[in-house]
Amino acid sequence: AYVLQLDNVERHYQQGENILSVLGGANLALRPGETVALVAPSGAGKSTLLHIAGLLERPDGGEVYVNGRASGSLSDEQRTAMRRSDIGFVYQFHHLLPEFTALENIMMPQMIAGLSHEEAAVRARQLLDYMRIGARADHRPSELSGGEQQRVAIARSVANAPLVLMADEPTGNLDPATAGYVFEALEALVRQSGLAALIATHNHEIASLMDRRITLQDGQVVEMVAEQA
Ligand code: ADP
Ligand code: ADP
Repeated sequence: AYVLQLDNVERHYQQGENILSVLGGANLALRPGETVALVAPSGAGKSTLLHIAGLLERPDGGEVYVNGRASGSLSDEQRTAMRRSDIGFVYQFHHLLPEFTALENIMMPQMIAGLSHEEAAVRARQLLDYMRIGARADHRPSELSGGEQQRVAIARSVANAPLVLMADEPTGNLDPATAGYVFEALEALVRQSGLAALIATHNHEIASLMDRRITLQDGQVVEMVAEQA
């Protein structure tokens, strides 16, 4: 059984007179708890693949299965519900809500999912402690360092205990030392919670920590061989 499966996924963009085929029948399958690095040059289609796999966008062809359920025939509302329950997303930029504290940002998705204020606060504090920023709970994003902001965004992405974490260059905006620490915390969280993860990164050190490395070549997902990784 797979938690995430892309079956022959296509995505084409109109660029002036031309059609650009970013994904031309891409296949990918993640087992529960499996971590996969997506390593490819800028423009290869990493964000496109993550957005489609994370149900943020619909493909032009093919099917995305989440926990064995096909998503293509679902309504937008049903896809949103599936995304909220099964998928976490971390971006290069944190996208935290500026007027709320770190704690409140992590509570938000849980409260949308129907948890009580108290339950959400307890879980948010645990996650902040786990990410080693418990002391920053009551700070707003603007009062946090880049690494701390990203730790909060990571904690928020797993607040509703998803099955799969998608991360698009999660440490790409940080200096190398900070990126290393933040990634260490991300990996520990993923391993501890048994999450599967698909992480786009240019960082080969990060990629080497994942169970598997893949790349995109001519719109296809290709397993990386040792000399590429
Ligand atoms: P990556 O994340 O690997 O840098 P992207 O998935 O962002 O790659 O983009 C892949 C290609 O698709 C790029 O050539 C980009 O210019 C193009 N592209 C992405 N989104 C759009 C869009 N909405 N409209 C047209 N072209 C796009
Ligand atoms: P990154 O490589 O960090 O993912 P990109 O610059 O590739 O950032 O893409 C940022 C956003 O802009 C994505 O949502 C992508 O879909 C969109 N985008 C990228 N290229 C184009 C394009 N040529 N036309 C329209 N939208 C694009």
